Amino acid sequence: MTLIDGKYVSAKVKEELKEKMIHLTRKPSLAVIRVGDDAASKIYVNLKAKMCEELGINFTEYHLDANIQQEDLMGLIHRLNADEDTTAILLQSPIPYHLNILEAFKAIDPEKDVDGFNPINVGKLALGQAVFAPCTPVGVMTLLKEYNIDIEGKHCVVIGRSNIVGRPMAQLLINSNATVTVCHSKTKNLAEITKTADVVVVAIGKPHYITADMIKEGAVVIDVGINRLPDSKKIVGDVDFENVKDKCSFITPVPGGVGPMTIITLMGNVIKTAE
Ligand code: NAD
Repeated sequence: MTLIDGKYVSAKVKEELKEKMIHLTRKPSLAVIRVGDDAASKIYVNLKAKMCEELGINFTEYHLDANIQQEDLMGLIHRLNADEDTTAILLQSPIPYHLNILEAFKAIDPEKDVDGFNPINVGKLALGQAVFAPCTPVGVMTLLKEYNIDIEGKHCVVIGRSNIVGRPMAQLLINSNATVTVCHSKTKNLAEITKTADVVVVAIGKPHYITADMIKEGAVVIDVGINRLPDSKKIVGDVDFENVKDKCSFITPVPGGVGPMTIITLMGNVIKTAE
């Protein structure tokens, strides 16, 4: 079994991005919109700010009050779309429930949409033409490539169908010539399907849900899940890592697998907006 080391790969990609930055004639500038006071969002935005600083990318946070109206949010997005100095825009989710996040994503200029959530970019991904696709699944593709895991013609089972991970993951795998099955909360006989998989990508948000009996000998297991155990506060994935690992050819740990790839992929997208 080979452990897929996301920390190592993200550090390597970071060095490549530093090199790219040297040759840019225009400075990339990321605008992050955060609405309200979700504690996790604040941490994520701070991490993005720190990484931008390390790479020499301009970073501006627009922190809006939780009580703003949709038109205030749309107004800011339109201003940032028009601002020539802002090359990249990201709306941090979640946003308060009274706001329509899909409308907001739709308003972000597709060329500045570094999260790939604008319907134009979602459509382009479905057509196999994406410039900006969601960062976590793109990060998974980078890991597979880095470890020379050939997915062409392989049966890849994606568990989870969210707009952020599952759906774009399935599209990216299809675009790389895999044979893809998507499973979700209404799927019947999940284990029967996963047992036929050469590659399993799990993104459901349920600690240790995928057990050894669900995995074929020699399969590749990619665990996107990030779950905090209520008792120990330990962070674990959706895969029962200790029992599954010996059956796999490759497996990602949590933490240190897919997690570090998301932010570095975002940085790569931000740099693309200035290229
Ligand atoms: P989500 O809640 O939006 O979607 C979960 C999906 O899992 C749904 O499509 C649902 O149908 C499916 N699901 C739920 N229970 C299931 C079951 N028993 N069997 C089969 N399918 C089931 O979650 P999300 O945003 O896609 O995130 C999923 C996990 O990935 C979470 O743990 C989240 O924290 C993590 N995540 C990690 C990163 C990262 O950078 N590593 C990024 C995004 C999300």
